[in-house]
Amino acid sequence: MLVDCHMHSRFSFDAQPDTVQQIAEASIERGLSTIAITDHKDYFYHGKPPMELDVPGVLAEIDAVRAQYDGKIEVLKGIELGEIHADPDAAALLEAYPFDTVIGSMHVMPNNVDFYDMDYDHLDQEQLLRDYLMEAKKMVEYGGFDVLAHLDYPLRVMKRDNNHPSFANFMEWVVPLLRTVIDREISLEINAAGLFGWMKKVGPEDFVLAEYRRLGGTMVSIGSDSHAAASVGRGIESCIAHAKAHGFDYVMVYRARKGEAVSI
Ligand SMILES: [Zn+2]
Ligand SMILES: [Zn+2]
Repeated sequence: MLVDCHMHSRFSFDAQPDTVQQIAEASIERGLSTIAITDHKDYFYHGKPPMELDVPGVLAEIDAVRAQYDGKIEVLKGIELGEIHADPDAAALLEAYPFDTVIGSMHVMPNNVDFYDMDYDHLDQEQLLRDYLMEAKKMVEYGGFDVLAHLDYPLRVMKRDNNHPSFANFMEWVVPLLRTVIDREISLEINAAGLFGWMKKVGPEDFVLAEYRRLGGTMVSIGSDSHAAASVGRGIESCIAHAKAHGFDYVMVYRARKGEAVSI
């Protein structure tokens, strides 16, 4: 059973204009048995309005595809919420709709700038990584989501020519974050996107996943973070290999916000 619990449809601002139906068809072709459509909605800080996401629109497409492809593929109703702790409206949104799975992400720092858009030549990268890990811990403490997404996100996007960012020197901040993930019974995501960037590996880094395991973490989730029908399931086998290499023999899949262990 091959699952991919993190992917984006045309409803995400940064995805290809592919419908849930196109994604489901590509996923069947790819041999996936369960997918979660997890479009973006980021909550910014300091009163800035949240990102637009047509939640009823995407859920309606998922319902239609579920009816059409019943027995061929399982399509879960997901969402990738950025900075859930920055705005109480995020929790209200989760109450208002019947999501299966909620991914929590940190894309944006309290200055409202996405890591993707930061000017890395003119900022203190070490300070930024420390701040990121502390802010991510706050978000996990706040909770309300099932899976902590792509812990390696800033590493993925802050690379410059002679600079290979890593959490190797930041374990002092990583460990308390991982402990909080475990305490809150949140799954840690193994995200494939890093495999296709400079890191050439799925995240989180080996020693981070090993530490999570050592601290008693048992729950991991896997996702391609695909932003197009053409790339659904991309890198999923590497995510599974990463999990297995660190002693995990199942991944979590959430249905109606309840986690179930699926053997890998
Ligand atoms: Zn993300
Ligand atoms: Zn994503």
